[in-house]
Amino acid sequence: MMLEGKRVLVTGGASGIGASVAQICAEAGARIAVLDLDEATASAAARQLCGAGHLGYACDVSIAASVDAGFAAVEQAFGGIDAVVNCAGIWRPSSDGPITRVTDETWDKIIAVNLTGTFYVCRAAVAAMERVGGGSIVTVASVVAVTGWEKLNAYSASKGGVLSFSRALAIECGSKNIRVNCICPGVIETPMTQKTLAYSKPTVLPIGRLGRPEDIARTAAFLCSDWSSFTTASTVMVDGGFSAA
Ligand code: NAP
Repeated sequence: MMLEGKRVLVTGGASGIGASVAQICAEAGARIAVLDLDEATASAAARQLCGAGHLGYACDVSIAASVDAGFAAVEQAFGGIDAVVNCAGIWRPSSDGPITRVTDETWDKIIAVNLTGTFYVCRAAVAAMERVGGGSIVTVASVVAVTGWEKLNAYSASKGGVLSFSRALAIECGSKNIRVNCICPGVIETPMTQKTLAYSKPTVLPIGRLGRPEDIARTAAFLCSDWSSFTTASTVMVDGGFSAA
């Protein structure tokens, strides 16, 4: 029970990678708070994936007041927060390229949710973790943060920002006993990618298959746990070898 006694908050925890993180962290002994756009969906995910005693709350990560309210509710219910996994995110491949067709609205929305949302969540997470003497923050970028991806301009920029921000925050937070690590998933089969896998499937993938949500979730659970106690400011590629190839 790697996460016995830990209180873990997962944003975007009602779907895809976040849902798997919630489930696997609960199986590893953690108490889970699922934060997602819709309250009923978040609560249902917490109950169905994790069981009784786990909670769900409405939270839009792109709105600071919504994030702060979500954290306050979880702290009140659990008495503190030990780990946070940032899974909320969007991509809009149909409007995110080529560059001359990327609208201001697409750019602003993707940056607001993926990058500014990660900032709001991490700011609240550090404040909460200072109150309990430390913790672990996991951010979720993407292989595109390192490699770029043709005609995914705003998404690549947002994820590159998440990666750099995570490193900067990890350096700042080392002395606070707060670790910060960034996972870069490759292509994972989730509702986000289902509609577009047909053309975004990578041609070079050493491990020979696409990723599954649990491939990311197990890495996130390890990074939340004390088993990774000397790991901070790391960029963890969980991509089947895609970025290397
Ligand atoms: P997903 O299945 O679409 O799940 C994302 C969840 O975040 C959904 O429940 C979504 O709600 C929620 N969400 C969207 N905007 C939000 C907001 N403003 N505030 C709070 N929650 C919000 O996507 P996924 O594939 O699991 O992706 C999870 C993370 O991994 C994302 O950051 C994504 O960029 C990253 N990632 C995914 C892949 C991949 O191949 N799947 C690869 C690299 C990185 P709705 O469904 O209601 O919109």
